[in-house]
Amino acid sequence: MSGSGSEESQPSQAAEDGQQEAERDWAAAKAFYDNQVTQRVRPPKPQNAITVAVSSRALFNLVEEQRIYEEQGLEKYVEYQQNNENVILKPGPAFYFVKALERVNARLLELYPDDEERFDIVLMTNNHAQVGVRLINSINHYGLTIERFCMTGGESPIGYLTAYLTNLYLSADCDKVQEAIKAGIASATMFTANKDVVYSDTQLRVAFDGDAVIFSDESEQIFKEQGLDRFFEHEQLNENKPLAQGPLKGFLEDLGKLQKKFYAKNERLNCPIRTYLVTARSAASSGARVLKTLRSWGLEIDEALFLAGAPKGPVLVKIRPHIFFDDQMFHIEGAQKLGTIAAHVPYGIAQKHQKST
Ligand SMILES: [Mg+2]
Repeated sequence: MSGSGSEESQPSQAAEDGQQEAERDWAAAKAFYDNQVTQRVRPPKPQNAITVAVSSRALFNLVEEQRIYEEQGLEKYVEYQQNNENVILKPGPAFYFVKALERVNARLLELYPDDEERFDIVLMTNNHAQVGVRLINSINHYGLTIERFCMTGGESPIGYLTAYLTNLYLSADCDKVQEAIKAGIASATMFTANKDVVYSDTQLRVAFDGDAVIFSDESEQIFKEQGLDRFFEHEQLNENKPLAQGPLKGFLEDLGKLQKKFYAKNERLNCPIRTYLVTARSAASSGARVLKTLRSWGLEIDEALFLAGAPKGPVLVKIRPHIFFDDQMFHIEGAQKLGTIAAHVPYGIAQKHQKST
């Protein structure tokens, strides 16, 4: 028994040694990697992070490049991008928002150095891999922390957005945004602001429309189909019935979760995130339902502005949000004209009316 045992124990001993050696290798590789990245913060795991995916045309101004692509085709476009790969791209509509997210991350890391609950920015682009060099050069030039790139080569980004557990997707391509909204991903089409505006560099400011953005479009349907008086009546009757959630509710919730982390460290007055509700509803006749709905969700919004049908643009100029979400193109255009970075959420009944008018 001892003979056969020792014969058998020889290979198993070798296997054990081999495994120990492999574990030592892994530990050494990890220690090596850990030493290498002490200067740079490692991206958080998607399940811990609030993942914001941006397209290259949302992050950078690629208007001229897009024109070359549309007029002269892919080969000329790639050639142009390669010839200009050391020319730094100008900021696009999502740039200042991304910058503001990164400043929030820096504050979070100061307060919670070992915590992964923060924003993670993923570049989601259908660009050719050769264009990647120019994008990387530009990202590094501005000191942005974008470690994850998805270069989908023209394929739909939905699978990747889902795989990264994306919390918000911003793109300049309205078809992709529509596809993402249909897949249940909070998403918006970004438009370049028509004016250069100076944005807060200490506080991320996010403004949301209410109906068909944070909330569902159930009340908007009454308004569009039965008129304003019937809408007021309906909202008063249903004041205590919370509205269903809309496509951006989850992102407001994510912002609220991070705000609470600052409050927990006594930073409420110095919180680097501020949220705004900018709605065409009027306070007296239809505002209570909105506020009660937010309360029923346990969500706080820092400022609620009920405009009673007044244009949103002038109020937004005062807020200077890094991004403003709305489902109706005329609000987007009005905001944009006065220099607000606007993002269109293609959801709800307003889209149908838009197409028919
Ligand atoms: Mg709306």
